[in-house]
Amino acid sequence: MAHARDPIADLRRIAFLLERANEATYRVRAFRSAAKALAGLSAAELTERAGNGTLTELAGVGDVTARCVAESLAGEEPVYLRRLVATEGSDLDAEATALRAALRGDCHTHSDWSDGGSPIEEMALAAVELGHEYLVLTDHSPRLTVARGLTADRLRRQLDHVARVNAALPEGFRILTGIEVDILADGSLDQDDDLLERLDVVVGSVHSGLKDERSKMTRRMLTAVANPHLDILGHVTGRMVSSRPAGVTGPGDRGHRARTRAESDFDADAVFAACAEHDTAVEINSRPERQDPPKRLIRRAVEAGCRFAINTDAHAPGQLDWQRFGCERAALCGVPADRVVNTWSAEHLVAWTHSRA
Ligand SMILES: [Zn+2]
Ligand SMILES: [Zn+2]
Repeated sequence: MAHARDPIADLRRIAFLLERANEATYRVRAFRSAAKALAGLSAAELTERAGNGTLTELAGVGDVTARCVAESLAGEEPVYLRRLVATEGSDLDAEATALRAALRGDCHTHSDWSDGGSPIEEMALAAVELGHEYLVLTDHSPRLTVARGLTADRLRRQLDHVARVNAALPEGFRILTGIEVDILADGSLDQDDDLLERLDVVVGSVHSGLKDERSKMTRRMLTAVANPHLDILGHVTGRMVSSRPAGVTGPGDRGHRARTRAESDFDADAVFAACAEHDTAVEINSRPERQDPPKRLIRRAVEAGCRFAINTDAHAPGQLDWQRFGCERAALCGVPADRVVNTWSAEHLVAWTHSRA
C-alpha cells in the first residue's frame, strides 16, 4: 500500500474541477458526497471494501466514484481525474479548431427525399465547399412516416440516383450511401438486412417511446448496438435542450414552436460498454437544439473506450457547417481525434463499416 494515493483527496479534486468547469450540480455533489461518506471509514475498511467491491453499498457512493477510489488505492491517478486535468487550462478553442480541421466528412445528413429541405445535389455541393471529402446521406427509414421515411423501394431508387450524382461531382469528393434507421421497440432496425448490408454507413437512432422505462430502453439500445449492421448510434439520449432554430423543420416538428424534451432514461455505462465491445461509434450530434449526448455522457463514453462520429444531422445545406458545435463539446470532454471515425478518409471509413457488417 506504500504507493496508494489519497482517494478522498482525489474525489474532492474531481469535484473542484467539475465545479470550475461549470458542470451540473448533481454531478459535483456525487463526488463530494462520496468523499464525505468515505472519510468516516478506517483505512483498513476502505481497502477491504474496495477489494471486495462493497463500496457502493455505502450511501453516497456510486459505480463511478467507487472506481475512482479503487484506482487511487492502486496508486493510479483515477482515469476520471486524469481526463479532467488533461482538458483543464488547455486552449479549448485551439483544440476544437484542430478537431474540426481533422474532420473529412459528415456521417449524418438529410435531403428532401425524407424531411430535409434540399435536393441531394445541393447538400453535396455545400459539403464540397466546406472542404469535405465525403458526405454520408442518411435519410429516414420507413416507419418514421412523419419524416417521409424511405421504403425499401425508394431507398433502392435513391441509391441509383446517388450513383448518378456522384458521377457528376468533382474528383476527390463523393456521397456515401447511408440511412438513419429507426431503432424499433425491440431493438431491431427498421430496414431490410440486404439493404443495410449494401449501404456504406448505417446510423441508428431512437425516435419513439423516448419516455420508456430505464430497463426497457437499455435493452432496446443494447440490442441495436450489438447488431453488426449498426455503425453509429445517433443522438443517444433524444433530448431537446431548446426550441428548434428558426426556419428549421424536422421529424414531428412541423407546425410546432418551442419545445424541450428530457433525456431518455437508460444505463449509459452498459450502452457505452457495448458500443466499445461491438465497435459501434457514439454520435456527437452537433445540432444546437440537441447537443446530444450531454457532456457528462460524452466523458463516460471516452472512459469506456468508445469511438465517436461528430455529425451535423443537417436538414439543409447551411447546417452542414454546424460541426464546429460538436467539436467544441468533444474538446471539452477530451475526445481524442484518433477516436473520431469521420477524421478518416472515405476508404478507411467504408472499410471499417464493411468489416463490421
Ligand atoms: Zn434522428
Ligand atoms: Zn437525423
